[in-house]
Amino acid sequence: MAVQEKIEELYQEVVRKNPGENEFHQAAMEVLQSLGPALVKYPEFVDKKIIERICEPERQIIFRIPWRNDKGEVNINRGFRVEFNSALGPYKGGLRFHPSVTLSVIKFLGFEQIFKNALTGMPIGGAKGGSDFDPKGKSEDEIMSFCQSFMIELYRYIGEYTDVPAGDIGVGSREINFLFGQYKRITNRYESGVLTGKSLNIGGSMVRKESTGYGVVYFLKEMLNVLKENVEGKTCIVSGSGNVAIYAMEKLEQLGARVVACSDSDGYIYDETGVDLNLIKQIKEIERGRIREYKKYHKESKYIEKGNIWEIPCKIALPCATENELNGKDATKLVKNGCIAVVEGANMPTTPEGVKVFLEAGIAYGPGKAANAGGVATSALEMQQNASRDSWSFKFTERRLQEIMKGIHDLCYSTAEEFGAQGNYVKGANIAGFLKVAKAMLELGLV
Ligand code: GLU
Repeated sequence: MAVQEKIEELYQEVVRKNPGENEFHQAAMEVLQSLGPALVKYPEFVDKKIIERICEPERQIIFRIPWRNDKGEVNINRGFRVEFNSALGPYKGGLRFHPSVTLSVIKFLGFEQIFKNALTGMPIGGAKGGSDFDPKGKSEDEIMSFCQSFMIELYRYIGEYTDVPAGDIGVGSREINFLFGQYKRITNRYESGVLTGKSLNIGGSMVRKESTGYGVVYFLKEMLNVLKENVEGKTCIVSGSGNVAIYAMEKLEQLGARVVACSDSDGYIYDETGVDLNLIKQIKEIERGRIREYKKYHKESKYIEKGNIWEIPCKIALPCATENELNGKDATKLVKNGCIAVVEGANMPTTPEGVKVFLEAGIAYGPGKAANAGGVATSALEMQQNASRDSWSFKFTERRLQEIMKGIHDLCYSTAEEFGAQGNYVKGANIAGFLKVAKAMLELGLV
């Protein structure tokens, strides 16, 4: 059977076995589509059913989370942890708290995480978890009681050598700290390496907070370098205004770029003179407010409720909000407006139609599983520090992150070239990530 037919058959099997899980189907399709040349070179992966095995999570946990709000009312949410693949190391990946969370969303994220983590070169497997709990508008007490109830169930599945969760959308160091406190209380163990993204007082790592956003910009820099371009003086737009977006904007600014817009799920702000990052940090990190408040302090800026940020002309666009936030039409608009690079801080933010537009236009397109790997890579550095009961300086940790991002870039670039798709970072990332995991799985035997 020709390889493409085999891949189509494998994909249809994923769809059949996981009905209705659209996000998971999309993520699986995106990876499988790239693998043709790798399967021709390594037929043993087909014989040993490596793809069937990779598409089946090793373990999926779904649980009930009862908790009380400030009024004393009972609430019930659903919790998930999908432990997808542990060929390279303990399961590793974030927890997402957002009302859109379903099993399909967690499975797509967990699947992406396998290859992303492999690309970092660190010894970490792939997992993801979370809940349909909505942190928006909740008090700190409510967040804490939810986190404590979540951990009462989760603790039995995790551990520094088993599964190491971290943050994602709706989960930052405040939530990780509450989760860690409860884990410590239940187990009576100060097991620092069981969670990453902790604050610095309790075993967190320097640069972890900044790492995903900084990493995206390092990856962008490497891509532009290949094209003999750089970010200095370029107009940039960054969707989102959470942790990834904020620190991507910070690094862009440090490198002399001009960021003119960012957003949240209500709308976007446009500030032609360059966004005031300190104000954005104040609104989002300290007040936990909405981006519309920006206009109160900068009257000359614009706030567009429900607007489409991708309509703003720019040279560089960094989607740093959430999945499927940039479609085929948006991609066409960006290319038409002269955009030369799109690098993803979020997981799967571009739809398949959008990806096609970028690849056909030949602009520099950096897929999330490579470009946003700096967050989880720095989590692995936090695990190293915890295991050796050490803590490193900001400078040293940032240098490590920079080296890792350069390594990921170069690996994606050279793999794409080796498999006949020069400049195609989607193929490069998927094949390089897959090969690392697949080779390890073969060596481990039928487990
Ligand atoms: N949630 C982040 C990601 O998508 C970080 C995961 C981690 O640090 O384990 O990669």
